[in-house]
Amino acid sequence: MHDVIVVGAGIAGLTCARALTERGHRVLVLEKSRSFGGRCATRLWNGHVVDHGVSCFTIAESTFRNALELILTPGDLAELPHGSIVRRGQAQLAPVGGRQATFYLRSGNNRLGKALAQTVDVRREHVVTRLGRRRSAHMVDDLPCRAVVLSAPWPQTAELLALPQPPAGEAPQYLPNLTAFFEYRGRFAGNSGEAFARIDPGEHSGLWWSACENHKENRVRGERSVFVVHASLEFTRKYLESPPTDYLPVLRQHLEHRWELDSSDLVDTFAHRWRYAFVREPRPQLPPLPAGVFVTGDAPAGSQLEAVWSDGRATADRVARFLG
Ligand SMILES: Cc1cc2nc3c(=O)[nH]c(=O)nc-3n(C[C@H](O)[C@H](O)[C@H](O)COP(=O)(O)OP(=O)(O)OC[C@H]3O[C@@H](n4cnc5c(N)ncnc54)[C@H](O)[C@@H]3O)c2cc1C
Repeated sequence: MHDVIVVGAGIAGLTCARALTERGHRVLVLEKSRSFGGRCATRLWNGHVVDHGVSCFTIAESTFRNALELILTPGDLAELPHGSIVRRGQAQLAPVGGRQATFYLRSGNNRLGKALAQTVDVRREHVVTRLGRRRSAHMVDDLPCRAVVLSAPWPQTAELLALPQPPAGEAPQYLPNLTAFFEYRGRFAGNSGEAFARIDPGEHSGLWWSACENHKENRVRGERSVFVVHASLEFTRKYLESPPTDYLPVLRQHLEHRWELDSSDLVDTFAHRWRYAFVREPRPQLPPLPAGVFVTGDAPAGSQLEAVWSDGRATADRVARFLG
């Protein structure tokens, strides 16, 4: 029997699983997809390495930096040029990281998930559908364990726990996001040499975040520019159930206007729908859970990579205390 089964191989679940494994516990991670890292996701697209979840992240705590240095290949961690994230109309840093430095991984941000998973027993393409009890053991599908850690976005975790839908405001609310990639001819096409990312605040613009991946080293191949767009909430809600052919031309128009791109240089597009992208308000105090069941990730910690990593560590401490 495993000591702990962790549901989800995102950064929180893997961090928790790794810390418990290092303490000598028998840990198994069950992940529904084929990849590691969850929303810290990277796609190899037309030969380019493109981040379509976490774009860049802060390193405020030395513990996080030390952990990254320990597990990443030397030289993989890179800093984005200071001031390269701008808000509409202002040559100032955006709140993503505030005035703090922001980082990315040269090999793709999902390298962090891969690195964390190296010393952890992960079973991929296993969708957990049932949680239960058999005598003193917790059951995750048909696998017994002493403790369970749930790291999926809260609505999915609540469904697994069969919790009744609490009134809005009593549970973490998640926002969806439509993400799109655009490839153009030419390096640093349009005005993309001026900034890595632009944030268009307000719900009325189709773009919320748009970034040119060329600013990240070793990412874009050949004479091309690659842009990642996270649509605004209003736009996302309008088109969430629509096929990409409905909304990609609209996003493309906004992008070309914002980055002064020549429409005739477009090479290719790609679209991805995140149903649970960001938690609107994290809830450190989640509804009471059965003894031996723990929740980690952005539901309690907030939608920032460093915060979910910290929460994974803190959850490992709580699980270790429970196991004794
Ligand atoms: C578009 C986008 C852009 C973002 N940009 C940034 C950014 O620039 N900087 C930043 O710091 N943060 C950013 N974030 C937020 C950040 O990605 C998340 O907060 C963080 O990755 C969440 O990690 P997690 O481990 O809590 O959850 P997840 O990464 O969601 O991991 C949960 C895992 O559980 C798996 N799972 C779910 N259900 C099951 C099941 N039933 N059985 C088995 N496995 C299951 C999922 O497949 C997933 O791998 C962004 C998020 C999105 C969506």
